[in-house]
Amino acid sequence: MKADRDLKVYIKTFGCQMNERDSESAAALLSADAFSITDSEKDADILIFNTCSVRDQAERKAIGKIGILKRLKRSRPHIFIGIMGCMAQSRGAELLKEIPHLDFVIGTGQLHRLPEIIKSEIRKRHKTVFDELARPDFNALAAHLADTENNFSASIAVMTGCNRFCSYCIVPYVRGREHSRPPDEIIEEAEKLVASGVREILLLGQNIAAYGLDGKSPPKDAFSPFAELLEKLNNIDGLYRIRFTSPHPAYFNDRLIDAVTSLPKICESIHLPLQSGSDRILKLMNRPYTSAHYMSVVNKLKSKSPRMIFSTDVIVGFPGETEDDFNATRGIMNEVAFDNAFIFKYSKRRDTLAAEMPEQLEQKIKEERNKILLEDLAERTGRYNASLVGKILEVMAEGPSKRNSSRWAGRSSSNKIVIFEPESSVSSGSLINVKIERSTPMTLFGKIQVS
Ligand code: SF4
Repeated sequence: MKADRDLKVYIKTFGCQMNERDSESAAALLSADAFSITDSEKDADILIFNTCSVRDQAERKAIGKIGILKRLKRSRPHIFIGIMGCMAQSRGAELLKEIPHLDFVIGTGQLHRLPEIIKSEIRKRHKTVFDELARPDFNALAAHLADTENNFSASIAVMTGCNRFCSYCIVPYVRGREHSRPPDEIIEEAEKLVASGVREILLLGQNIAAYGLDGKSPPKDAFSPFAELLEKLNNIDGLYRIRFTSPHPAYFNDRLIDAVTSLPKICESIHLPLQSGSDRILKLMNRPYTSAHYMSVVNKLKSKSPRMIFSTDVIVGFPGETEDDFNATRGIMNEVAFDNAFIFKYSKRRDTLAAEMPEQLEQKIKEERNKILLEDLAERTGRYNASLVGKILEVMAEGPSKRNSSRWAGRSSSNKIVIFEPESSVSSGSLINVKIERSTPMTLFGKIQVS
């Protein structure tokens, strides 16, 4: 067996941005402990799969991927294969039975122990499960990899867990209750990132507008610890842009609306999960707002910041969703004119109330409704992108485009992907003005404007 410092670790992430952040923390903790991180599955001694349980499809994808590694394990029997993340937390030991070549399972509350667990426990070659849902270790959450390729942009987890228990959602069971990090720690982390070259920060939390409340009810309009945090971050010199995800509409009060529309570094795109446009379904989902409340938040944001654009999460085919309920969702999506939407076909999640509800819908109905919303979305986005032709957008340069490396890609404040011809003065993280010359429903194409 090699010494720890020679062991190469490969981490693959499934699911959301929170998981990507956890994978980065895991990689940073392991490399600080003398393991080396590799991008190559074939060269790795330890393969870790950071999994998602929010949708059935995400679970099946991860299990399928790990399943086919049986052959690799046969040809390289010394390797360790492990699962971390939400599925590890929710299914624990059951995964060891289902996937015989799996060596270890590490739940969401044990991330900070990853190096120690690998060094001491796994090497004993016992099949092991670590799934105690402990209070999060904020030091582990703050670990970042140095010298990442895209070091102009970084994410910070400002809180963990969720107390809302939406009836379809597994997150409170696998991530535990809300724990907010102290603002000073977050500011310090952001300042260090900016000093290392980061220009854009994405703040992460499952119920981020409830930051600082840790289980308390949505606050009155004049109080929002999250707005206070945004104000402090906005004061950091050298930081150009701040994004955040995902806020719950019930916590998006006037104080927060004022902050996101008045602070210059907050980007002009807000992700605001709707889930359903039907008040009856929202109630069944245990989402404590109405479609009218949702629209009042959107309209206040639009009136204070007319260029703000919106994205959302929507579930189609929730148990009992009628044609009228679905049309209410479709109607509100058109009214807000969402520029992007993650549209999910409802799937049962273990331990959740909705999984036991009567009137589960046929897959065919879910597929049909999903298709209708996707078509609406493509049509709307195509029209909106075409309306940007001729306009000048401020774009943060990212790097060579994946499709054609002679051109560069960047993002506007409203989160639009913009492709342009690079110039020698432009580097990752530069802010440039680009005149839009052409559009598709997914992408804008333009030329750098020299001022
Ligand atoms: S607020 Fe979001 S993370 Fe929390 S239970 Fe509801 S859907 Fe899940």
